Amino acid sequence: MIAVVCASANPDKVAEIAAVLDAVGVVLEPRPDDVGDVIEDADTLEGNARLKAMAISEATGLAALADDTGLEVDALGGAPGVLSARYAGEGAGYGDNTALLLSELDRVGARTRDARRARFRTVVLVRRPDGSEQIAEGVVEGTITASPRGEGGFGYDAVFEPDESDGRTFAEMTPEEKHAISHRGRALRRLAEVLR
Ligand code: IMP
Repeated sequence: MIAVVCASANPDKVAEIAAVLDAVGVVLEPRPDDVGDVIEDADTLEGNARLKAMAISEATGLAALADDTGLEVDALGGAPGVLSARYAGEGAGYGDNTALLLSELDRVGARTRDARRARFRTVVLVRRPDGSEQIAEGVVEGTITASPRGEGGFGYDAVFEPDESDGRTFAEMTPEEKHAISHRGRALRRLAEVLR
C-alpha cells in the first residue's frame, strides 16, 4: 500500500485529492494540524507545489503530496494562472475571483466561445525527506461561460465548461464526473502510476 501525507490545506482540494487517490489505491494521510500555512510565493505551479510538499515532508519525516492549480485564460494572456487563488486580492473568496474574471473578459471584449478559451492546469508533487520527488501534470481544456452555472465543486467551477462535457460546467457535474476528466484527476492518476 502506498501512503502519502497531504500537504494541501484547502479542504475543497483535499476532498478531491482523497477521492481520486482512493480510487487508485493510494492512501492520503491528513495534514498535521501543528504545521502553519506555507507562503506560496513561487512564480510557477511546480514551485508552489514544492514549497508545500517540502514543508510537510520535513515536518513529518514522511512522503508528502501537494497540488497547485491555475486557471489560464487565453484572452487575458494566461491570467489568473499561478495567481488564481488571489486574483481579486489577498483574502479574496471564490465569488470575488469569479466575478473579476467575468468582468475582465467583458472589459477585453471576449464574448464569443472562441474568445473565451481557457484551461485548468494542476501540478502534483510528492516529496520525501531525502529530497527525492516525483511530479505529474494534468490539463483540461474548456471555455469560460457568460455567467456562473451550478452549485457543485468550488473555485472557478461554475464558469468553466470543459470541452469534454455535454454543455455542463464543472459545478453542474457530480464529483465523479468532474474527477474523470479534470486537471486534478488526470494529474493524480498519472502520479499514482509513477509511484507504483
Ligand atoms: P491553489 O492550487 O490552492 O493555488 O488553487 C488556486 C485557486 O484555483 C483556488 O483558490 C481556486 O480558486 C482555483 N481552483 C483550484 N482548483 C480548482 C478546481 O478544480 N476548480 C475550480 N477552481 C479551482
